[in-house]
Amino acid sequence: MFKIAAGERNATDVVFVVLEHNGIKGYGEVALPPYLPDTAITVTNFLTRIALPENYDDGQFTKLLEAVYDQPERCYPAIAAFDIALHDLQGKLLGETTRALYGIAGDESPPVAYTIGMASAEELEKKIKEAPDFKFFKLKLGGGNDKKLVNCFRSFTNTPFGVDVNRGWNNIDEAVTFSSWLEKMGCVFIEQPFEKEELAKTMLLKTQLHIPVLLDESVQTIDDVERVKPYCDGINIKLAKCGGIYPAWQMINKARGSGLKIFIGCMSEGSCGIAGAAQLASLADWVDLDGPLLIDNDPFEGVNYRNGRIMLNNWNGNGVKPIHSR
Ligand code: MG
Repeated sequence: MFKIAAGERNATDVVFVVLEHNGIKGYGEVALPPYLPDTAITVTNFLTRIALPENYDDGQFTKLLEAVYDQPERCYPAIAAFDIALHDLQGKLLGETTRALYGIAGDESPPVAYTIGMASAEELEKKIKEAPDFKFFKLKLGGGNDKKLVNCFRSFTNTPFGVDVNRGWNNIDEAVTFSSWLEKMGCVFIEQPFEKEELAKTMLLKTQLHIPVLLDESVQTIDDVERVKPYCDGINIKLAKCGGIYPAWQMINKARGSGLKIFIGCMSEGSCGIAGAAQLASLADWVDLDGPLLIDNDPFEGVNYRNGRIMLNNWNGNGVKPIHSR
């Protein structure tokens, strides 16, 4: 069970993409939580309009990514699944890791935020015990008993934490008072406190706090960075939102140039989708790439966590393989 301000669920639909060229396969994945407008059906329909050219050669890589992105009606999760698979294939064709394609040297992520959905005291304690190596938690708030949940969390651990409100707050005065208390409790950031259009409230909150206020649902693609920049301290970038590794990399560069902090997040993908995002992880301030830890039917392997960080392997491409291929 995973519970956030937008609802609760026991499972999430995912779509996998496999691109094959000269007998080499590249794999991509996106997850479609029920609060998103796109579904596995809309994603699959969009994907039927895209194909790897039969005579594909690795020199076409960027042009193909741009052509798929520049469609009149973009289905971002579908574009992301294709983009992740094409990066995996490209890395394998060139004998490189995906991060090497971008000249990224880091093979270790910042601390991974281990996400805890809205939970009872018992579930909270169990979750914390499941993750002894993690140095950082992300608590999902906005459910009406936020103070109780944070007090309960603090009774079990002194580990730093950030909170993701998932648009669950409305009253600015209450938000300021509560966030100041959160700061004293060791909270290190507040993510998406208000509805996505409520940028003025977000800015008011930001000016009252010492810790960063991040936006997630208010920011989708690179086109939003300039617009939200004055209202927040950082943004949560997800491959499924922005269209994959290539647009995420461009978005990170633009946001950094604008002085924003970077959070790389996910949508409950398993190892295949997470591995794509993890290739960019060393460029972020925080990552929330814990999808594989929150599911129990992951069909891929290769994403490993050590001391609360993702340790990237040196496999070509995104660094995963299907478990049945062993
Ligand atoms: Mg979020």
